[in-house]
Amino acid sequence: MFLIQPDDEWGKRHPYEINARHPLSLPGVRCSVCRATWATTGVAYPTVPVELVRRFCPVVNDPLDPKQFREIAENIQQALGERYSVHPGTEFGAIEGKTKGLIGEATWVNPWTLLFRRSVMERFHAAGISLHFARALLNIRSGEFFEIEAAPVARLHPSCISSGPTECCASCGRQPYQMPSNLALDLASVPQDVPITRIKEFPTMLVISDALASVLSALALPDILMTNIETLR
Ligand SMILES: [Zn+2]
Repeated sequence: MFLIQPDDEWGKRHPYEINARHPLSLPGVRCSVCRATWATTGVAYPTVPVELVRRFCPVVNDPLDPKQFREIAENIQQALGERYSVHPGTEFGAIEGKTKGLIGEATWVNPWTLLFRRSVMERFHAAGISLHFARALLNIRSGEFFEIEAAPVARLHPSCISSGPTECCASCGRQPYQMPSNLALDLASVPQDVPITRIKEFPTMLVISDALASVLSALALPDILMTNIETLR
């Protein structure tokens, strides 16, 4: 398994900008028990039609109380199926926006939102790698880009959570973790047939399978940094 992230050094030499967002973002939560107002960053399902989610989630600007949020989340989760975990701040729908600068074969809207050009998607397909993806609605005339969808399912191995998980709030479910100095994944949590996932405790971190990493290495795309991540039993 490998962590995948933007290559900041490459980015400094080849600056570009993508100002884009998913059209629907669930509200955050304000909890009177742990006194936190929070949302999870990094969970996005671009393949899910916005209309489907909107049926269950009213347009609200303010954070909801945990019970209100749970009701909405349960309804959405039921409609989407168990592949999709729903959190405060989860985003839905095809990403839309504008770009500036030269956009390469692989590109990042932010360090947790990865897009590939159609030519790269075809290479994945030819290698038998099956991804969930949605076309990004960007103002680029030369070619199409696709956002890769990844669910937050890979869990950190308990041994690398040095101080142990902070207590989970019984009311809102908030459970902050400290970033471990050495990351390792719990092998049992990593789905074997899924090429890309997010780390459940840190959904902004994308993890890819050896098979996907090998195709990416062969393509030698710029702005992609892959770091080996240990998996432990
Ligand atoms: Zn709470």
